[in-house]
Amino acid sequence: MTKKILVGNWKMNLLPTSAKDLTSKLCPLSKKVNNCEIWLAPAAPLISTVALAAAQSQIKVGAQNVHWKESGAFTGELSAEMLRALGCSFALTGHSERRHIFHETAQESASRAAFALTQGLDVIFCVGETIEQRKSGLTEQTVDQQLSELFKLLPQKCGQQLLIAYEPVWAIGSGVAATIQDIELVHRYIANKLAGTPSQTNAPILYGGSVSPENIAEILSLPLVAGALIGGASLSFDKWSSMLDKAEAC
Ligand code: PEP
Repeated sequence: MTKKILVGNWKMNLLPTSAKDLTSKLCPLSKKVNNCEIWLAPAAPLISTVALAAAQSQIKVGAQNVHWKESGAFTGELSAEMLRALGCSFALTGHSERRHIFHETAQESASRAAFALTQGLDVIFCVGETIEQRKSGLTEQTVDQQLSELFKLLPQKCGQQLLIAYEPVWAIGSGVAATIQDIELVHRYIANKLAGTPSQTNAPILYGGSVSPENIAEILSLPLVAGALIGGASLSFDKWSSMLDKAEAC
């Protein structure tokens, strides 16, 4: 059975002490679980603290974004090589907050992902529609455009794993997750799209958007949902503990 991947996106939260404390408490859980994995994406200044705290555990540590160039004059950005040196094994790209608050274009998000894959990082490429796009019946078209930008750039052979996270923008941080039917429909759409790209047919598809201890079991029970990208609930040890219990039982 494939393990479900639970990714905590800590966004711009926590400080070194609280990040270390939460990671240390999660370490024993990461060794105990059999059917799921814990991945953590702390803010950049916390990465080395978290990587050190997670060193003897099964927890994977990653970054919330990564640049598309190896190095150079890109103030405020982080290279894949730097992230790997700090202990990262994966990076998110195209998170809705990057696309919508920081106006990262579809092409930029895709370039970040494609380059990181060649540089030894697994990549969680986030896609999803705004509420206006959903109301206008443009969900599939939006996801399709975001994925198409990536597929134009994907390296043929990279050895690293690509994961897709379907995160409807309106569900992120709102407390209202997409319905099970909507998650199933969009995941099926993405899976079919992936099936048409010879190199990435089996990319796991995660769901993100207000995942919580209350809804995680139902969401993970969908066969096309390989795991969850979790923001708010991933800041609480008690919620992790409860979500892992539920994920284990799926
Ligand atoms: C996220 O940060 O990607 C996310 C899904 O946040 P939340 O779980 O808080 O909706």
